[in-house]
Amino acid sequence: NNKNKTILLTGTAGFIGSNFVPYFLEKYPNYNLVNLDLLTYAGNLDNLKECENNPNYKFIKGDICNRELVEFIFTEYDIKGVIHFAAESHVDNSIKNPGVFVQTNVNGTYTLVDVAKKYWMEKPFTYKTEYQDCRFHHISTDEVYGTLSLDPNDLFTEKTPYAPNSPYSASKASSDMIIRAYVETFGLNAVITNCSNNYGPKQHDEKLIPTIIRNALNNNPIPIYGDGKNIRDWLYVLDHCKGIDLVYHKGNKGETYNIGGRNERTNLQIVDAITTILDKEVPQPNFSYKSLITFVEDRAGHDRRYAIDASKLENELGWKADENFDTGIVKTIEWYLNKYGICK
Ligand code: NAD
Repeated sequence: NNKNKTILLTGTAGFIGSNFVPYFLEKYPNYNLVNLDLLTYAGNLDNLKECENNPNYKFIKGDICNRELVEFIFTEYDIKGVIHFAAESHVDNSIKNPGVFVQTNVNGTYTLVDVAKKYWMEKPFTYKTEYQDCRFHHISTDEVYGTLSLDPNDLFTEKTPYAPNSPYSASKASSDMIIRAYVETFGLNAVITNCSNNYGPKQHDEKLIPTIIRNALNNNPIPIYGDGKNIRDWLYVLDHCKGIDLVYHKGNKGETYNIGGRNERTNLQIVDAITTILDKEVPQPNFSYKSLITFVEDRAGHDRRYAIDASKLENELGWKADENFDTGIVKTIEWYLNKYGICK
């Protein structure tokens, strides 16, 4: 009964959404995808060029906080599923300007979920029994859980209490709570995934890995916060997309699933891995890209360690990451070298 089903995707001109759309279009040729994105500084339609001519793909520029527009899209396109990526996503920006994070991440999520509830669950729409199958998938982050100790057995599970430390993670935690309330109070068919740090093609320049690659290739200092020992659990973006696909289709209503690659690395290990590859692939005489590493003042409230226990997703839905960090980072660097027109 998935024939010609139309799904609303939000935030698809950003990093993860723009990796997800071509993957999803190819895998599900019977779906129509309506993509809603405000094209903020983080959205770039070049990321979706490969989809432009696909008849199952439609792009709409607009704000997820615009209720009138969201209601129009639900009615006009008979939306039967939502996969919600749109967010303000950069922690540093949330420290400088928290307001827009609350607006987009909290109010925007509220608007989408409330329209979904109205359209799928309230009269006069409820007479369409098929709408009971309609699903809302909210994409979130492991940062909602706060920070971990350095004990390798200390991992975020779906039962870890929320303890967000930055305005970004607080706004994402709030949006998760709104989804939870719509499941508990109204019975909405929603799922949440909380994912660790992603890397791969099409990530915005402001993020750590693109910054390291770009600055190295331009012979500019590579800034590393504090002592460089903060740990993140890195996941190749396509493995995240595959996890979302599984949870959207097979996850249990009202459940949260953590997605993580079991690839913990300090920021120093990341910069070391990238500069080692660049020294080999784009060598410069008597020079190592490692000489560009520069320690800068730490980020305020910088969480020390994040790491995900993904066993629920692995055991219940059979998810497994295809890339480990060593293979994923090679693919990522290749993509950026191509972007900058550098032939090896
Ligand atoms: P991104 O910043 O690259 O892209 C966000 C997209 O949302 C952009 O295209 C932007 O134009 C759009 N957008 C922003 N405000 C909007 C609004 N008001 N209305 C409509 N569109 C709007 O983000 P990303 O890295 O692709 O992250 C996508 C989602 O995944 C986010 O919800 C983020 O919290 C979550 N997430 C990201 C990571 C990561 O490592 N990047 C990890 C875990 C979870």
